[in-house]
Amino acid sequence: MINLILFGPPGSGKGTQAERLKEHFQLLHISTGDLLRSEIANGTALGLAAKEFMDAGQLVPDAVVIGMLGGAVDQARQAGKKGIIFDGFPRTTAQAEALEHMLTDKGTAVSCVLSLVVDEEELTQRILKRGLTSGRTDDTDIDTIRKRVQEYRTKTEPVASFYKDRDLLEEIEGVGSIDAITEALMDAVNAFSSKHSDG
Ligand code: AMP
Repeated sequence: MINLILFGPPGSGKGTQAERLKEHFQLLHISTGDLLRSEIANGTALGLAAKEFMDAGQLVPDAVVIGMLGGAVDQARQAGKKGIIFDGFPRTTAQAEALEHMLTDKGTAVSCVLSLVVDEEELTQRILKRGLTSGRTDDTDIDTIRKRVQEYRTKTEPVASFYKDRDLLEEIEGVGSIDAITEALMDAVNAFSSKHSDG
C-alpha cells in the first residue's frame, strides 16, 4: 500500500492537496477534521464531546480520534484503493504511535510524511479567507485561529521528529501555485516509493 501523511499547520493546504493526491494515487482520503465535523452534524455523542474542543481551537483527545480510525485499512482494501492519505492525522506523538501499531497489525506501514511549510502570517490570512465561505466557526475567530496554531506548535510539531527519526519526513514549500505544490508532492511520493516498497 501507499500510505501518505500530509503534515503541516492549519491553513497549510493539506485538504486541498489531499484531494488531488488521492485522485492521482487512488487513495482513500481520511481527514479526521471532516470525520469529526460529520459526527457533529449527525449529533452523535462523539461529535458532542469533540465540538467543545474544536470550538476552542484545541485538539480533541487522542482516544477519541484514534478510535475513529480502527477500520481505515480494511475500508481502503475493500474499496480497492492503493492506500490511504491521512490529512490532519496524526497530530500528537501518541497518535503517531497508535497509527504505527494499527498499520503494522495490518501488514503495512507509513510510506512517507509530506510536511507543508507555510509562515504564520500567511496561515492566518488563509484561514480567515477560508472562514468567509467554509461555514467553520473555528475559521472566523482570530483567537481560536491563534489557539489552533499554538496547539500545532506545542503538540503537533514534535510529530515531525518522530518521522524524521524513521527517515520518512520530507518538507515541501507550501507557498506558491497550487499546481506547483501538487507536483512537488507527487515527485516526493514517487521518490519515496522507488526507495521503499512494502507491496
Ligand atoms: P482540521 O479540519 O484538520 O483543521 O481540524 C479541525 C479541528 O478538529 C482541530 O482544530 C481539532 O480540534 C480537531 N481535530 C482534527 N483532527 C484531529 C486530530 N488528529 N487530533 C486531535 N484533534 C483533531
